[in-house]
Amino acid sequence: MAAAPDDLNQPLEVLRFSERILGAFARLKLKRVIDLLNHFPRNYNRRATIATLLSGMTASVVGKVISATNKATRHRRMKVTEVLVEDGTGTIKAVFFNQPWMSGKMVPGVRVRLSGPVEYGYHSWSIKPTSFEINPPELEPGLEAEYDLTEGIESSELAAAMERVLHHADAIPDPLPTELAAKLRLMPVPAAYREAHKPANDRALQAALLALKYREFFLLQAGLRMRRRSEAQDTGMMFGVDDDLRARALKYFPFAMTGAQTRVCSEIEADLTSPGRMHRLLQGDVGSGKTAVALYAALVALDNGYQAAFMAPTEVLARQHFRNLSEYLRKSKVRVDLLVGGMKKSERDLLCADLATGKTHIIVGTHALLEDYVKFKKLGLCVIDEQHKFGVSQRAALRAKGNRPHILAMSATPIPRTLSMTLYGALDVSVIDELPPGRSPVVTEWIHRKREQACFERIRKELADHGRAYFIYPLVNESDVLEAKSAVEFAEKLKNETFPEFRVGLVHGQMNAEDKDQAMNRFRRGELDILAATVVVEVGVDVPEANVMVIENAERFGLAQLHQLRGRVGRGKKQSYLFLFGDPHSEDAVKRLTVICRTNDGFKIAEEDLKMRGFGDFAGTRQSGLPKLHVGDMERDVEALERARVDASKWAAAIDEAVIRQCLELHFGRKYRLLDV
Ligand code: ADP
Ligand code: MG
Repeated sequence: MAAAPDDLNQPLEVLRFSERILGAFARLKLKRVIDLLNHFPRNYNRRATIATLLSGMTASVVGKVISATNKATRHRRMKVTEVLVEDGTGTIKAVFFNQPWMSGKMVPGVRVRLSGPVEYGYHSWSIKPTSFEINPPELEPGLEAEYDLTEGIESSELAAAMERVLHHADAIPDPLPTELAAKLRLMPVPAAYREAHKPANDRALQAALLALKYREFFLLQAGLRMRRRSEAQDTGMMFGVDDDLRARALKYFPFAMTGAQTRVCSEIEADLTSPGRMHRLLQGDVGSGKTAVALYAALVALDNGYQAAFMAPTEVLARQHFRNLSEYLRKSKVRVDLLVGGMKKSERDLLCADLATGKTHIIVGTHALLEDYVKFKKLGLCVIDEQHKFGVSQRAALRAKGNRPHILAMSATPIPRTLSMTLYGALDVSVIDELPPGRSPVVTEWIHRKREQACFERIRKELADHGRAYFIYPLVNESDVLEAKSAVEFAEKLKNETFPEFRVGLVHGQMNAEDKDQAMNRFRRGELDILAATVVVEVGVDVPEANVMVIENAERFGLAQLHQLRGRVGRGKKQSYLFLFGDPHSEDAVKRLTVICRTNDGFKIAEEDLKMRGFGDFAGTRQSGLPKLHVGDMERDVEALERARVDASKWAAAIDEAVIRQCLELHFGRKYRLLDV
């Protein structure tokens, strides 16, 4: 029976699995036949008898339980269950941690399958089980797929279900041009699915995984190229820029742009003056001057008769942008307005009316800008600050305003250079890799508890010499109320005990935006010497006189966060300091503090962050808006990824766009639309 492409999209219910199995599929988020096919094993075990094991291999053995014993360990909280299994050729010991109920399941005489890495030592075999099954099917020789499971389904049941849908793989289209597939001699799609789920042998398995990964990467890269091409053909909004406009725009800035800013401005200019919508990601370390560049882009839009919108993730940041832009444009006729949530309706209505008639040239705001009542006369440019803090759909909503404006997305979370090329193979990225002159690197020290008092004395000297200090307090309590309370207590202690001679203010997450803004303003104007804060100062606040930052419990912060926080100081003429207080208990925390003390370079820090955390939860992947892959791993499979990127561009003319679209829809479903944003 030949499978048709439509069959791949049918819900799994159609295949008459039991209610229990369907429930498990639902929990695994497997809805359609193709989703099940794309549920690839997380690893493979070699089915073996105990006599044929090799130390170090990952294996599945089936045998009878001889004994199962719960044992205490030296660590009070750690309990182990030791299970001894025998298969007629030998015995093997499995150790389960903190699962005392295991001894109730693994009763002597019961048949079990144990899977995981095996080792030989002290004259006996042991296995670290990654999965097990009671009363498993007979053991056949060969490789066995191990799947991510959920309650209500056993590994062998998932394998059996897979077996039932495998023939549908015949209907999965191949995104590769035929000649390319032939040239690379890649395993065809249906065979690759079969071998990945039911490998005949090692070689076939490796060939299958390579074929699947390569195709997945190729598909993504081809999709990105298509999107880019369609944007490039869009000639709706081509701006003009001449020397006169350049000179007028640059006059608004009280400083000369740095080399990096100038380069990025011309990259943006090139986008705006050629056919196609701009969709550029502007990366630059905190304090590198991204806002100035964004304003330059906005001035180009304005001069061409369009409006510009700046969207920031928090009200505090939006207010700050508003203040900064208004300051830059003080002597101009450009009108800048601020729109945030919680404004009075009458006030908001006036503002929206001016926006709709074009009286307002630049609007700054939070996601309130996305509301339906916000209408523009002629929106030409959207600037999205700290873009990774917005969801893809929010970014898309802003873009849908007006007639698909140009987009400049900004981020201070750098993507390591080594990755951005492959990841953003088809996107535009500009980098400001130079700080404005006169900044000296922040001296960063990790302060031992015993030396805290000495450190306070150093801070005292800085404050007496017209310095200003942030004291950052991490979120330590689950409850907001408790958290606010501890922040208040912390500030009181600073005020009454540590620095009684200085003026101390406080901002924390439970205050409303206006109060926060007020405290921040007092600090900015020098009416406060010390600002105690929970993480609200993390992004964007700009007080050049602040030259000291103390971070309490620094071990609780991530690397990127510590670096962002540090960006709040070192913006003025005075030497700046970051003092880290804390007792790291994990190796990772020690490493983070060491790294942050050693370097001021945001890209180096991002690389370290990546090394420590892995690619999975790295901000870069989220920023990319790319869908989650089924087989490929952008971190481990860099070679295949790079190769697919190069090939997708080399073979562009041979690519069948309809097939690519069909494949994207099929494999990534609704997420496919991410590629449109
Ligand atoms: P970012 O948004 O990248 O963190 P900002 O745009 O807020 O950085 O700029 C940080 C500070 O540096 C601001 O006070 C700004 O006025 C100043 N600045 C920006 N560009 C320059 C420059 N070329 N020369 C001197 N100061 C600059
Ligand atoms: Mg900024």
